[in-house]
Amino acid sequence: MAETSSSARTRALPSLEDAEWLRRPATVRVFEALEAPGVETRAVGGAVRDALLGRAVREVDLATTAKPDKVMTLARKGGLKAIPTGIEHGTVTIVGGGASFEVTTLRRDVETFGRHATVAFTEDWEEDARRRDFTLNALYAGRDGTVFDPLGGYEDVVAGRVRFIGDAEARIKEDYLRILRFFRFNAYYGKGSYDTEGLAASVRLRDGLGRLSAERIKAELWRLLLAPGATTAIEALFDYGLLPGVLGGAPRLDRFNRLVEIERAQGLAPDAARRIAALAVFVQEAAPRLAARFRLSNAEQAVLALGAIGPDMLSLPDENAAKRLLYRRGTDDFRDSVLLAWAGSDAAADDADWRAVLTLPEHWQAPVFPLRGADLVETGEFHGPEIGDTLRHLEAEWIDGGFATPRDELLARAVALSRKSPKPNR
Ligand code: ATP
Ligand code: MG
Repeated sequence: MAETSSSARTRALPSLEDAEWLRRPATVRVFEALEAPGVETRAVGGAVRDALLGRAVREVDLATTAKPDKVMTLARKGGLKAIPTGIEHGTVTIVGGGASFEVTTLRRDVETFGRHATVAFTEDWEEDARRRDFTLNALYAGRDGTVFDPLGGYEDVVAGRVRFIGDAEARIKEDYLRILRFFRFNAYYGKGSYDTEGLAASVRLRDGLGRLSAERIKAELWRLLLAPGATTAIEALFDYGLLPGVLGGAPRLDRFNRLVEIERAQGLAPDAARRIAALAVFVQEAAPRLAARFRLSNAEQAVLALGAIGPDMLSLPDENAAKRLLYRRGTDDFRDSVLLAWAGSDAAADDADWRAVLTLPEHWQAPVFPLRGADLVETGEFHGPEIGDTLRHLEAEWIDGGFATPRDELLARAVALSRKSPKPNR
């Protein structure tokens, strides 16, 4: 049995009995619902790994010896909602108490084609551990906080070593996404240099990334980009020639590195789309191309587009230029544009002038243009498309005049403009 082979290590393992997430009412309810004769359920993966590192635990995934249909029945008997989200490979999502849990029956992968593995359920914890990707992800915890470590993952957690379980090359060939996961987990947990075997296999098999779906690549890449070690991981992907294949274009590390540095210096939360923009969008066409590649939302594509910096932002904008930009773009786009422009300049990450521009929305609110279409209609001078054209023209003048021209003056100006321009037959 797995427990026998790992009992020597088990003794040296810390207990998670005080872990807050094991005592959350929602967690307790799921464990209780799955309690049945002959059934054993444990937390697995991220929750255990992060708890051992003293990091915050959000999602709790569970592994259980109960077969999926039994998991469904037990959950419902316990008054919880059970959704067969991936029942053919053993996963049921249980929802209750404001949280959801992926509960997966212990399994071994019989045949693997990318994410679609043909599985066989098992009651052997070590077998279940062996089908997982890295040793640090193959840790389990019982509901009382006892940690189980069938493959020696705890040592790797502590040492910050991301090691494939089994032969790295074979494991990557089963699922090429593991290449990106290797870099992603290194970006969150790695200390020191990468595991040589894992790195060499990732580099050798990098072409396999081309077989993955956009959604899977995106999910991993976005998490990688937000990692504490994102710059090192992106640099490694670049140095070993994997990054162009991931992005489908030529990246530039310097602006990306500088953006990360500026975000840190300014105490800003990272944003994956903004970071991709810094890394890979230097011309307008790159934004729709990447958006199509990763199936991005319109909002994400809009952030990406800001990477192609317009002439107005090639140097530090003066106050009026900054106000114009804020008025035109709104706060979020403005901040992203400023950060990207700053990252593209050679100003320091704590530069006071750039900071003043960045924080403009905190002390200046863009005014509202005081004229509307109805105002022009009322004058009796404007019809049809003239209305919109004149409004846009006047708004541009008003912006250039520092948003200062009062409403009456704008109206008078509108009338003057109308009388000046020849009227076609209506
Ligand atoms: P995170 O905190 O980032 O969610 P996690 O360890 O929970 O980390 P998930 O991607 O949610 O990572 O996966 C849950 C667990 O399932 C992993 O810990 C790992 O054991 C296993 N796993 C997930 N994806 C794969 C994969 N492609 N190949 C092998 N095992 C995987
Ligand atoms: Mg997870």
